[in-house]
Amino acid sequence: MHTVLTHPLVKHRVTLMRDINTKPKQFRELVNEITEFLAFESLRDLKTVEVSVTTPIARTTGVKIADSIVIVPILRAGMGMLDAMLQVLPDAKVGVLGMQRNEETAESVPYYIKVPRARGDELAIVIDPMLATGGSACDAFDQLKKLGYRRIVFLNLIAAPEGIARVEKEHPDVPVFTAAKDDGLNSHFYIVPGLGDAGDRIFGTL
Ligand code: URA
Repeated sequence: MHTVLTHPLVKHRVTLMRDINTKPKQFRELVNEITEFLAFESLRDLKTVEVSVTTPIARTTGVKIADSIVIVPILRAGMGMLDAMLQVLPDAKVGVLGMQRNEETAESVPYYIKVPRARGDELAIVIDPMLATGGSACDAFDQLKKLGYRRIVFLNLIAAPEGIARVEKEHPDVPVFTAAKDDGLNSHFYIVPGLGDAGDRIFGTL
C-alpha cells in the first residue's frame, strides 16, 4: 500500500525542494516541513488512551498517545528527516541503520545497526528521503523484522515507481507514504526528475 500526498502545501514545498538553486539551509527547512506533513498523514491510526483534563472552565476527556515508537533514520540522508519527526513525537526512541549503496549494482549492504530490539508491538517509523530502487528500504525492513518489529511504516520525500513496486512485493505489510511519486530511475539509479543526491543537498556536500 502506498500513499502519495497531494495537498497543495506539500506540492509547493516539493517543487521548491527540487529546485537546483535551493541552498542547503532552505532545503533542510523544506525537508522538515514536508516530513511533518508525512508524519501527520501516516500516523492517523496511532493508538491512544483516554485521559481526563481540566480546562480553566470544566473537566473533560482527551487522549494521549499510547503507542511506543521507534524512529529509524537510514544513514546518512534519513538524518535530515529526524528533527521533524522528534518535533512531532518527542517521546519516541531513535534507532539508526547505516546502509551503503553499491553504486554499480545499486544494492545496499548494512554497515551499522544501532536499533533497540522490539519488546512488544512497537511501531518502527523508517525515514529516508529517497525511495529509488527500494534496495536499502527492503534491507532495512528485513533487519527490523529480524529485531522483532511487526509494525513498520516507511516515510520518504520522493519515490520512484520501481522502488514502490519492490517494497510492495517484498514487504506488502509495510505502508509507504511519500510526498511525490516520480517518473522512474536513470542509468545511475537516480530518481527522475527527483532532486539529485538528497544527502548532498541536506549536508551541503555537493
Ligand atoms: N538517492 C538520492 O539521494 N537520490 C536519488 O535520486 C536516488 C537515491
